[in-house]
Amino acid sequence: MEFETVIGLEVHVQLSTKSKIFCNASAAYGGEPNEYIDPVTLGLPGALPVTNRRAVEFAIMLGLATHCEIRRFNRFARKHYFYPDLPKGYQISQFDEPICERGHVDFYMGETKRTVGLKRIHMEEDAGKNIHDSRTAASLVDLNRAGVPLLEIVSEPEIRSPAEAAAYLRAVRQLVRYLEVSDGNMEEGSLRCDANISLRPVGELKFGTRTEIKNLNSFKFVERALEYEIARQYAILKAGNQVVQQTLLFDSEAGTTRPMRSKEESADYRYFPDPDLPPVIVEESWVHDVKGRLPRLPAEWANELVSEHGLSLYDATVLTAERAFVEYYHQVVAACGNSKAACNWVTSEFFGALNKAGLDLSQTPVKAVDLGELIKLVDDETISGKMAKSVFEEMFATSKPPSTIVQEKGLKQLSNDDDILAVIRKEFDSNPGQLAGYLGGNDRLHGFFVGLVMKATGGSANPKKVNDLIRQEATARKSA
Ligand code: ADP
Ligand code: MG
Repeated sequence: MEFETVIGLEVHVQLSTKSKIFCNASAAYGGEPNEYIDPVTLGLPGALPVTNRRAVEFAIMLGLATHCEIRRFNRFARKHYFYPDLPKGYQISQFDEPICERGHVDFYMGETKRTVGLKRIHMEEDAGKNIHDSRTAASLVDLNRAGVPLLEIVSEPEIRSPAEAAAYLRAVRQLVRYLEVSDGNMEEGSLRCDANISLRPVGELKFGTRTEIKNLNSFKFVERALEYEIARQYAILKAGNQVVQQTLLFDSEAGTTRPMRSKEESADYRYFPDPDLPPVIVEESWVHDVKGRLPRLPAEWANELVSEHGLSLYDATVLTAERAFVEYYHQVVAACGNSKAACNWVTSEFFGALNKAGLDLSQTPVKAVDLGELIKLVDDETISGKMAKSVFEEMFATSKPPSTIVQEKGLKQLSNDDDILAVIRKEFDSNPGQLAGYLGGNDRLHGFFVGLVMKATGGSANPKKVNDLIRQEATARKSA
């Protein structure tokens, strides 16, 4: 019997607000242990939470960008559990009234467009961090992260493979980064994901029993954990046994999953509306206003790159991976007016150089206008494509504009017909034997003369012109 894989992801995104979701302690990453705390973070008696408007606005932004319905009347709920990194004994979250519902995320896997439905996106606060110190056998608690705003994005179980799960997660990361609601940094824990997975016989409509793998913090781990879990569940089902519904941890060193706890039900959490927080009313005008301020999203950029700039879907995908990429690309195009050449330069030469130097686009030594200028110098035949590559290297190393480098190095390409013709005539006249052969039909000698002219001009002649003018001069001599 063959099985189909069913996956649903719960993605946690840490919002890049200045302060926490219910108080004004800093929401910054890092800091000395327990530097960013206050009475609300500590859950001291009498400390009252106040909702961060910005965090709600970020939720609305992501909801709109994922085509969700935005709930107008929002309530926060207390979710109870005991753990030292949660001083209040409950996490403030949303339960049956999440701010966003029924949306979808669209993305490409190669040339294939995929859509994964969203059940909901809700707001909640993050917990602190426990550090288990094996040296002293003590557990240390750092509450800097406690109360940092999170969005939890819950997908429908519509993902069908580990690779698709990773592609979906990339699309979510790309969206939050475009919207600038989160830096999406998985290493720092700003984006993490719980993966739910089950198998069912092909053709079966009912879902199988699922397991949930907690806290995956890299794309690679998501794929590897899911691959492992598919194989594990497959072996169980093949042997005629039943998968036990439970919560698992992924051991990235061993590449295996292991049980963490049996699956809890929502009743275990004793959810109830938080009496300390008034409902958040999201007025129509607020949603309208946020909609008007949304930046262009990756899908819109990509569509335009394909339909108006004539780029391939592949190139459009590469260029829209980050908002900074596509913005840079557009500045290059604005400076040179050649969208295909700009795409080639940005995606190969430029990204290659950044990569090699270990630089981020924000640290680029080459300004977009300068790269555009360089492309223009090639297009108007001031320099050859080959020269342009060495000019580019120099630009990358020195941040000088291309025109300065071309001047300093005396790199001008010889493009003037008369100048090139003069060299060709001289070479024809000094090599009468080869010329006779060439005129007599030995076309291999064409390359011989091209070589001579390029050499005589120190490689500065426009190669295409050299080609054409040698033929033109040969024709003229034959008929003379
Ligand atoms: P819970 O309330 O128990 O967390 P949800 O219905 O909110 O359950 O689903 C949590 C996540 O698990 C969602 O992303 C959903 O798509 C996924 N999921 C639900 N059922 C299954 C299943 N049988 N197999 C795989 N994923 C599932
Ligand atoms: Mg859940």
